[in-house]
Amino acid sequence: MDVILSRTQKEIQKAAWEFAKGEFDAAAIIEMDHREYFPAPIWKKSAELGFIGLHAAEAYGGGGMGLLETVLVVEALCRRSSTMGIAIGLADVLAECLSLFGSEEQKQRYLPSICEGRQLCGICLNDLNPDASDNATVCRTTGDGLHIEISGRWPLVVNAPVAGLYILLCRDVDAPDSEQAYSLVLVSGQDQGVALRPVKGKLGMRLTSMGELELQAVHVPLANRLGQKGQGRMHLKAATWAFYVKSAGMALGIAQGALDRSLDYARKRIQFRRKIGQFQVTRHKLAQMVMLVEQARCLTYAAAARMDAKRPDPVLSAAAKLCACNAAVKVAYEAIQLHGGYGYMTEYEVERFYRDAKMLQIAGGNTGMLKDELANLVIGKLS
Ligand SMILES: Cc1cc2nc3c(=O)[nH]c(=O)nc-3n(C[C@H](O)[C@H](O)[C@H](O)COP(=O)(O)OP(=O)(O)OC[C@H]3O[C@@H](n4cnc5c(N)ncnc54)[C@H](O)[C@@H]3O)c2cc1C
Repeated sequence: MDVILSRTQKEIQKAAWEFAKGEFDAAAIIEMDHREYFPAPIWKKSAELGFIGLHAAEAYGGGGMGLLETVLVVEALCRRSSTMGIAIGLADVLAECLSLFGSEEQKQRYLPSICEGRQLCGICLNDLNPDASDNATVCRTTGDGLHIEISGRWPLVVNAPVAGLYILLCRDVDAPDSEQAYSLVLVSGQDQGVALRPVKGKLGMRLTSMGELELQAVHVPLANRLGQKGQGRMHLKAATWAFYVKSAGMALGIAQGALDRSLDYARKRIQFRRKIGQFQVTRHKLAQMVMLVEQARCLTYAAAARMDAKRPDPVLSAAAKLCACNAAVKVAYEAIQLHGGYGYMTEYEVERFYRDAKMLQIAGGNTGMLKDELANLVIGKLS
C-alpha cells in the first residue's frame, strides 16, 4: 500500500517540525538528559499547539485526526530530538484506550485534561502476556458490590510518578483462571493506598519520567472499570495495534534524525584530504541507512493508513514496529561509528539517538513478543 501524503498532512508534519526546531534547545536537552528531568513547559506548549491527543475526538479536546497524522507529528519531533520527542509522544499514552473503551462519562472526565496538557497518564500492563508474568496484580469486587479492590506492583511505569491517572490490567482473583479473568481499571495517583516512587537511571529516554507504582488494597468505584469486565486483554490488544504504529513513528523519527546528522557529517568532515562522504565505504553505509529508513517509513505509513481507513492490519502494525525499531537502533549505531570519536560525545547527539532507540525495542511490545505475535498471525499456534 503506497501512501502519498495530502497537503494537510504535509502541513501538519511541517508545523511539528517547525515547533521542534523553535522549541527544542540542544544544550538544555543535554542538561535535562543528564538530570533525567521531565520537560513540563515543552509538554504544555505541545498540547497548546494540538500535538498531544491528536488521535482523540475533538469533542473531548483531541485533534480528531488520524493515526497517520499522529505518526507524522511524533516522527518530526523525534527526528529533531529523540529524547524530547519520546517524552512528548508518550504524554498521551492512555488516550487510545480511553477513546476506544471509555464510557461517555470517563471520556468527558479524563480525555480533555490529557489532550490539553493538564494531566499525564500511565499504563500498567505487566500481565499482558499471560504466560510471561507472575500475575501479581489482582483485583476483586468488594462485599458491598460497589467497589473494586486492587493490589499489585508495577516496577517500570512511564510517566509515573508525575502522572495523575493510570490504567491497570488486573486479574480478578474470584474468576476462573483464563483470558476472561482480566479487566482494565482506572486508578488515580491520589487514591488511598497508591504509592509512587521515582525510578532513575535509565540508559535512554531520560526526559520521560518513570516510576514504580504499588497498590495495597486500593478501593475504587465499580464505575472505574474501563470497558467490559473480563475483556481487559482483548481491549488492550485492540488498542495495542495503534500504539505499535505510533511507536513505529517515533522509531522512524529517530532513524531519520540519526541519518540526517550522518549525512551532514559525511559532507563536512575531512580526513586524508577528502570529505569522508567521498569514500565508497561511507557512501555504501549511508545508502544502507537510507534503505532501512525508507523501509520503516513505508511500513509505518501503510499500517497507519490502514487503521485510518478502518481496515486495520495487525500484521502490518506489528511488522511496522519491529522494522522501524530495528531501523532506529541500526541507523543510530552506524551514525555513531560514522561520526568517529565525536559520535561517542554527548554534543553530537547521535549517542543519545542510539540510547533512546534501544528502549523502543524493549518497552511497549518487545522484539521477542512482537515476533511471536507476527508468527501467530501468519502461521497460527501449532499444536
Ligand atoms: C524504559 C521502560 C519503560 C517502560 N514502561 C512501561 C510502562 O509504562 N508500563 C508497563 O506496564 N511496563 C513498562 N515497561 C516494562 C516493559 O514493558 C517490559 O520491561 C518489557 O515488556 C519486557 O518485559 P520484561 O522486562 O519482564 O522482560 P522479560 O520478559 O523477562 O524478557 C527478558 C528476556 O527474555 C526474553 N524472552 C522473554 N520471553 C521469551 C520467550 N517466550 N521466548 C524467548 N525469549 C523470551 C526477552 O526477549 C528478553 O530478552 C517499561 C520498560 C522500560 C525499560
